[in-house]
Amino acid sequence: MRVTLLGTGCPNVDLERHGPATLIEHDGDAVLIDCGAGVTHRLVEAGTPGAAVGALLLTHLHSDHIVDLFQLIISSWHQGRDRGWPIYGPKGTRRYVDGLMALWAPELEQRIAHEQRPSTAALDVTVHEFSDGERIQVGALDITTVEVDHKPVKHAFGFVCEAGDKRCAISGDTRRCAALIEAARDVDLLVHEVYVHRDIRVIPGVRTEQSIRNVSSYHTLSSEVGGIARDAGARVLALTHFVPPKADREQLLAEVRGDFSGPVLIGEDLMCIDLADMSVRMGLMRLSLGLDP
Ligand SMILES: [Zn+2]
Ligand SMILES: [Zn+2]
Repeated sequence: MRVTLLGTGCPNVDLERHGPATLIEHDGDAVLIDCGAGVTHRLVEAGTPGAAVGALLLTHLHSDHIVDLFQLIISSWHQGRDRGWPIYGPKGTRRYVDGLMALWAPELEQRIAHEQRPSTAALDVTVHEFSDGERIQVGALDITTVEVDHKPVKHAFGFVCEAGDKRCAISGDTRRCAALIEAARDVDLLVHEVYVHRDIRVIPGVRTEQSIRNVSSYHTLSSEVGGIARDAGARVLALTHFVPPKADREQLLAEVRGDFSGPVLIGEDLMCIDLADMSVRMGLMRLSLGLDP
């Protein structure tokens, strides 16, 4: 199983960290988790364009995780996708997807009629709304939904992905969540969100002490995330969804290392973790994690 961090950012615009999205691949099957801003470009950079993705899974309906959905559908059509899009998401996904498609219907109808492309299969979207503990099968990938704690957001999920004897857990957006720690027990890789409180400052007209407190309350603090990986018994921890995107990497690494003795990856866009041989690649870089496969 290969896990590629396509977008490691948040709603802030950051040129190095695009919006949240993670690609899971195994044996020719590919699943995309979330479709934040810039996802279609990152998919092409990762070598797996949207046309090659089997299914889309949504962790929750915060805009930063879903904002590029229409672009994903349209660009995959233009890439020659010859099958529809299965979209798995929590309650509310059907309403969102139906509304989005309705909003674009006049543009799309005109485009279909005028462009006369060989197939419109890529535009067929099928929504499956899931609840806690459901299993989703996409080719050889077996995914289990885990309800996490992102209150006041209702219906927020993480996922545990399995293929062969490898397991990877994706936190989605959550504060420390016992159910996720339990579901992620002994995973080969835990991909977890992180909120770096010390790097967020009050900016008049942008955010107050209160807004910082409120946002931090439904995310996982950098002081907690190492302990979560330790308590889950994860072999490797990769951090993503950096708030703020420009959080200090050295300080963060030192902090997390204090609580978790396994390999810690400060995630970057297009970082790929290969669980088959426990290695990491990014650009031309190749790194063995020094763990038994
Ligand atoms: Zn988010
Ligand atoms: Zn969120």
